Amino acid sequence: MDIPNDSSWTTRKILGLRKLCHPLIRYHVGNGANTFLWLDNWHTLGPLYAKFGERVVTNLSKALWAKVATIIDQGDWCWPRLRNQSIQAIMAHTPPNLRQNLNVEDSVSWIPHPSDIFIVRSAWNAIRKRYPIQPWQKIIWSGNAVPRWSFILWLVVLQRLSTKDRLNSWGLHLDGTCSLCNSAVETHQHLFFECSFSTVVWQHLVNKNMVLDMPSHLVEVLDWYGVQVKGKSLRCMSLTSSLAATIYGLWRERNC
Ligand SMILES: [Zn+2]
Repeated sequence: MDIPNDSSWTTRKILGLRKLCHPLIRYHVGNGANTFLWLDNWHTLGPLYAKFGERVVTNLSKALWAKVATIIDQGDWCWPRLRNQSIQAIMAHTPPNLRQNLNVEDSVSWIPHPSDIFIVRSAWNAIRKRYPIQPWQKIIWSGNAVPRWSFILWLVVLQRLSTKDRLNSWGLHLDGTCSLCNSAVETHQHLFFECSFSTVVWQHLVNKNMVLDMPSHLVEVLDWYGVQVKGKSLRCMSLTSSLAATIYGLWRERNC
């Protein structure tokens, strides 16, 4: 099925994942009434249309939307006796354990999960790309931080906040001066670590012993925290929370 032109962005994205998810769904033939002969993943060779193309549909004189039941006759497979290589291959790879059962309805199972049940987490793990775990991930995503603080801290690490230097790089012609001090170009590095406003905030926290040292660059800070802040003591949780909360607060102040 083609994606309708008037579909929403979300619908398009979900429908676009069909090619990834389709091979992960297994159809178990019972009476064959609900399983698509050419399109569903019920045969040992996988979806037959994907493997053999449209020609096999034409050769067998079955509609694209035909059900498996159309090749079952009184409990036996009734593949047409054609000297066609595709049909011969399908017949040869139809093992006895694929035997239909007219007293049972077709069923569907989700391959990635051991219990065959669809669970969102198993779908995510099955289709996502995996990247190396970053040394700072435990600091950012520590369980004690407020999620929105962690999210902003994560975006800062990735340099993905919409600071003015980035906005201008996208073609917006804005005044690129820092919103907090009005004296330098607004970049991630300046906004959070070099800006006179941010420096005052950090210094206050250092004096209160709420951060370990005056930070100069986030990656260095995270590296340092990774070495020094380990465990789940109250002190460790306090330090990581303070870091995330300060970054979040500075970004919020910038947007006021
Ligand atoms: Zn500034």
